[in-house]
Amino acid sequence: MPIHEKSLIDGVIEKDSAVVDGVDVSGRWNTFIKERLLTDYHEDFVQEVKSLQGGKTVTNCWQCGTCTSGCCLHTDYGLREFNPRYFIYLAQTGNVDELKKYENVIWRCISCNKCVERCPKGVKVEEVVHAIDEVMRKRGLAEDTPGSRWDRTYLDNIMVTGVLDELGLTLKYVRSEKPADFTRGFMARMAFKILKNGNVRTGPIRRRTKGWKKMKKVADSILEADGYGSTK
Ligand code: SF4
Ligand code: SF4
Repeated sequence: MPIHEKSLIDGVIEKDSAVVDGVDVSGRWNTFIKERLLTDYHEDFVQEVKSLQGGKTVTNCWQCGTCTSGCCLHTDYGLREFNPRYFIYLAQTGNVDELKKYENVIWRCISCNKCVERCPKGVKVEEVVHAIDEVMRKRGLAEDTPGSRWDRTYLDNIMVTGVLDELGLTLKYVRSEKPADFTRGFMARMAFKILKNGNVRTGPIRRRTKGWKKMKKVADSILEADGYGSTK
């Protein structure tokens, strides 16, 4: 039985002292894992993740943990609960009850793609994490999150002409979020930086990607297949 929680470890008793040649070798002994029976595995969960464009590589993972050890959120930002290896494990085993505990954590992936660069098994970790989040919401295991609302706003924005309207995107998103929201704070800081650097590409005459009409059709068909529905 896999260990999911530290609370399952029971009966840890420290020996009073066991020093050999000046080295304390007492350690922990008499450690037991509390027995429990899990009946809530959803075997079809991983297949649903796999059926999404971004989730195709979910079953390649062999649980080495390289993604988590280099993940910006997990390490640099100290969000220890954010553990892509573990999310993938829970998705693979269909342990949705455990996965649900992270409904307000999973969406926080910032898509830096460091994990994708490092994964030795070619798992598109960033896409897989988003696909897991997507399936959770489809199954009612997670509410709509700032992350999913951001994805939707971003998609709707870029699908208009194939070129991002950064200012329009930022304003629309920031307006739609609660003031205290973490992402809003992050987005506000990002918006300020964009404005400060003069990198705003927006305005009445919005640029358009060459041949966008044809490309949009292809992109729309992929999004439809992934369950996003049609974009504006
Ligand atoms: S680095 Fe790749 S194989 Fe290793 S745990 Fe992460 S996703 Fe799985
Ligand atoms: S893309 Fe997401 S999961 Fe991967 S390293 Fe960056 S924050 Fe972590």
